Amino acid sequence: MTEFSRRVEQVSISGIREVFEAAGEDAINLGLGQPDFPTPEHAREGAIEAIRAGEADEYTSNKGTESLREAISHRYAEDRGMEIDPNDVIATAGGSEALHIAMEAHVDPGQEVIFPDPGFVAYDALTHIAGGEPKPVPLREDLTMDPATVEDAITDDTAAFVVNSPGNPTGAVQSPEDMREFARIADEHDVLCISDEVYEHIVFEGEHRSPLEFAESDNVVVVGACSKTYSMTGWRLGWVTGSSRRVERMLRVHQYGQACATAAAQHAAEAALTGPQDPVDEMVESFEERRDVLLDGLDDIGLDCPTPRGAFYAMPEVPEGFVDEVIDRGVVVVPGEAFGEHGEGYARISYAVNVETLKEALSVMGDAYDAVS
Ligand code: PLP
Repeated sequence: MTEFSRRVEQVSISGIREVFEAAGEDAINLGLGQPDFPTPEHAREGAIEAIRAGEADEYTSNKGTESLREAISHRYAEDRGMEIDPNDVIATAGGSEALHIAMEAHVDPGQEVIFPDPGFVAYDALTHIAGGEPKPVPLREDLTMDPATVEDAITDDTAAFVVNSPGNPTGAVQSPEDMREFARIADEHDVLCISDEVYEHIVFEGEHRSPLEFAESDNVVVVGACSKTYSMTGWRLGWVTGSSRRVERMLRVHQYGQACATAAAQHAAEAALTGPQDPVDEMVESFEERRDVLLDGLDDIGLDCPTPRGAFYAMPEVPEGFVDEVIDRGVVVVPGEAFGEHGEGYARISYAVNVETLKEALSVMGDAYDAVS
């Protein structure tokens, strides 16, 4: 009999798919983690031109093309006033691979990784795959992660903690003060802060800041992606940035696991990053309008929901049996416990659907609520 590694046996395939299947084909899907907009035309053209010119046929540099890394660096400078050396960027197969190589390069077997609970499902799985011990921590009532909770959870065995703002599944945005605290904790305790900023541009209120701006040591690495910002989830293009020595270690994992991000996707990403940013503004405006429709609707139903200030998720508290009832009635939402033990009693609602569909789903949720309460 073939044996499997202990690391992989600790990970299971995400249960979210099963929810989609249970709801049937005609279901309204509020379970998806991707924007419902097309990839901007100029991004698609970037790839098409590169393919036609024969520029997408070969391996690129392991880190990605210089012009893509310059484009990523340029966006940080332009949008956030951050100075990122293009040599300290690795283009990856989405934010997912960036998280993976960050964990592999920094976590030894048995070391602990602290992350938000409820939190993005990959943090727990990637910690196991790196041989580490997941240390999920509960959130504040507004679903942000309290730096004090992270600091209390740090032990001699802690390798890293993950910050995710705006957050999946919560839509919560950490304050600049929190980000400054996360940087201080990374500095003072000499642990790595992995800041997952794939939703950085989808913010309605407050301001997105990065712990990288505040850290005095090199104990912060930042994960970014085109996936959500430019509605490019299928292109699989993200990146990780940090100090040169950290990038060099992550590159060792990337070089052997991936070689380089897909060349055509790199060209599309470069065009998205250097081209007009209006599609991003339009998408964010539309998400904000939908968020407001959703929050009003949940309030009318009688469901409490911390106001999500970014991303495209809301996480209301729901009565027992609500999620199953909603799914039985043909609307897919994801049970909070899919994102960690402290997610129990909540549901994640993705509002990456048009307003009409959202209103239809709200009416179903209202009926489901009446049926279970
Ligand atoms: N980080 C968070 C918080 C996410 O929600 C996701 C995708 O859902 C990712 C990272 C991975 O994104 P990508 O599609 O770029 O791999």
